[in-house]
Amino acid sequence: MRATTVLNKLLALPGVRVVGVSTSAPDTVAVEVALRRRTLVCPVCGYATRARRDTRPVDSWWRHLDFGRWRLEIRARLRRIDCPTHGARTEGVPFARAGSRFTRDVENLVAFLATKMDKTAITRLVRVDWDTVGRICQRVVADGLDPNRLDGLVEIGVDEVSWKRQHHYLTLVADHRCGTIVWGTEGKDTAALDRFFADLGNQRTSQLSAISMDMGAAYAASARTHAGHATRCIDPFHAVAKVTEALDKVRRTEWNALRKLDPKAAKRFKGARWVLLKDPAHLSRGAPSHLAQTAPPRRHHLAGLQPQGGLPRDLRRRPRP
Ligand SMILES: [Zn+2]
Repeated sequence: MRATTVLNKLLALPGVRVVGVSTSAPDTVAVEVALRRRTLVCPVCGYATRARRDTRPVDSWWRHLDFGRWRLEIRARLRRIDCPTHGARTEGVPFARAGSRFTRDVENLVAFLATKMDKTAITRLVRVDWDTVGRICQRVVADGLDPNRLDGLVEIGVDEVSWKRQHHYLTLVADHRCGTIVWGTEGKDTAALDRFFADLGNQRTSQLSAISMDMGAAYAASARTHAGHATRCIDPFHAVAKVTEALDKVRRTEWNALRKLDPKAAKRFKGARWVLLKDPAHLSRGAPSHLAQTAPPRRHHLAGLQPQGGLPRDLRRRPRP
């Protein structure tokens, strides 16, 4: 079987056929391809025509997935097109995104890895530099982002995430019904959420029925201004955090009081923290009775101490947006 036929099968690049192969450098295999289609396509808007402006005097090339220890380059002699919107452009190719020096396969791999490992590990594994990882992620996200992702939102959650020791923040909006992030921007103030409502528009905002958020004033102010009709709820994550905090405060007060009355019982009671915090469904059989029997002299004071089972199950388990 000819080398070009084998490479055609192995690479399976869409819309092209392999017409030549060479080892252009000690560690690089250069695979020459030709487009199957005769139509020229604008890489930006997809405008298609059979009229060519000219042919580029040099090959275009893209980095493909490594082939064993070999670096793989795809090369093609492309034509240029006169797009009514974007002017003179080199025609687009189906196996690479516009303006990229990498094939879609490489970019998809890097974007996937970016969700699983740190950037430094990616640069070593894929042999690309730090900034390239960021640019690839931008292209993949822009290409794969669903333009209708803000349609049909009814129950949403808004929260911030931070990085670099809380020096930088992102505001993220999640669709509670499908459990996915649908929007994000830099910052964590009222203006950040204002930008979401600007993108959402009045018509889609009017369809919102509930917005969950933290207990800060910033997001609440924006939600009040733009979606006053929607119910504002405390984000389950923050509600559970507050209940846990209050529960622990009562537990510590009781423990300190018990130490004076009955040191032995206080010692047993000290270990009750995890019994209180744990989901009752996951407690061992004896744990609740252990808690009840721990401090008989002050049992009436323990009335305020309810394990988190006192919270609705849905609230305890609902994921953070
Ligand atoms: Zn165009």
